[in-house]
Amino acid sequence: MTDTLVRITGLSVDLPDAGTPVRVLDDVSFDIPAGTTVGLIGETGSGKTMTAMAIIGLLPEGAAVSGSIMFGDTDLVHCDDARLRALRRDELSMIFQDPLSSLNPTQRIGRQVGEVLRRSGLPRAEVQERVIDMLDRVGIPDPAGRARDYPHEFSGGLRQRAMIAMAMIARPSLVLADEPTTALDVTVQARVLSLLRKLQVEEGSAMLLVSHDLRVMSHVAQDLVVLYAGRVAERGTASAVLHRPAHPYTRALVRSVPAIRTKTAIADPLPGTSASPAQRPSGCAFHPRCPLATDRCHTETPALREVAPGRWSACHYAEKVLS
Ligand code: SF4
Repeated sequence: MTDTLVRITGLSVDLPDAGTPVRVLDDVSFDIPAGTTVGLIGETGSGKTMTAMAIIGLLPEGAAVSGSIMFGDTDLVHCDDARLRALRRDELSMIFQDPLSSLNPTQRIGRQVGEVLRRSGLPRAEVQERVIDMLDRVGIPDPAGRARDYPHEFSGGLRQRAMIAMAMIARPSLVLADEPTTALDVTVQARVLSLLRKLQVEEGSAMLLVSHDLRVMSHVAQDLVVLYAGRVAERGTASAVLHRPAHPYTRALVRSVPAIRTKTAIADPLPGTSASPAQRPSGCAFHPRCPLATDRCHTETPALREVAPGRWSACHYAEKVLS
């Protein structure tokens, strides 16, 4: 049995918006087991990135957070800044979608990759050695020479590799990867993903992979959490969720991607547009787009419940969807 590394319980986030708080995450609960990859999937505005930001303590100013994010004995929602900084140095790291906006343009790549080790007090020679080794492991040619380059001297693919090196060099327990390959050329995406997965396995880290791309998830994630309008629609093992969805939203997502479908190669586009957290429909937020919606769905918010062993769904009619 795998140990739980992170346990998120009842996480809600309200952001100020012209004086009226908007609930962007509502009662989100799921676990990240140690050493595994959990995929967080949903459309734009579903709360994927907000969840990752809540874990790493980088929510926008003015955010009101409730619930808990237990990382071992530490509740990341309520711990002080010093503890959070120490955890970000030693245990948690993040890979962002756009490496150019995350890398400092005025600092050499090697310095940025080694920064976290320098801050932990490692001798300079050892930092240098670990940086070159890590740049080599992420497939950057001539690592000693390229460590002296600036970010603008790297291609997009190499910059993302440098970001991965930066995230993995301190051997974190948890890597948060927010759409890590979206900004890359399709041919580079698969290589960068498999590199990330390889390093994660070698270092024994867990990963929370944020993506809107079900194909990426089907290759990388062991567990899936499906978000819709800031709430968990469904969660379970990736293979169960993708092959036998327990929520009409997941079913529609799967049907919108030809490669995921088992019976036909024709995609059905997702109907309607995603619900904005600022104008969340009453009852089940998916009801305006759901082919199974009844009067009950317009008024009663479905609770997330276990509908089969290890399968959780927030649909009044999950059993019917599963059957
Ligand atoms: Fe559809 Fe109703 Fe289930 Fe929501 S609760 S997903 S509207 S059937």
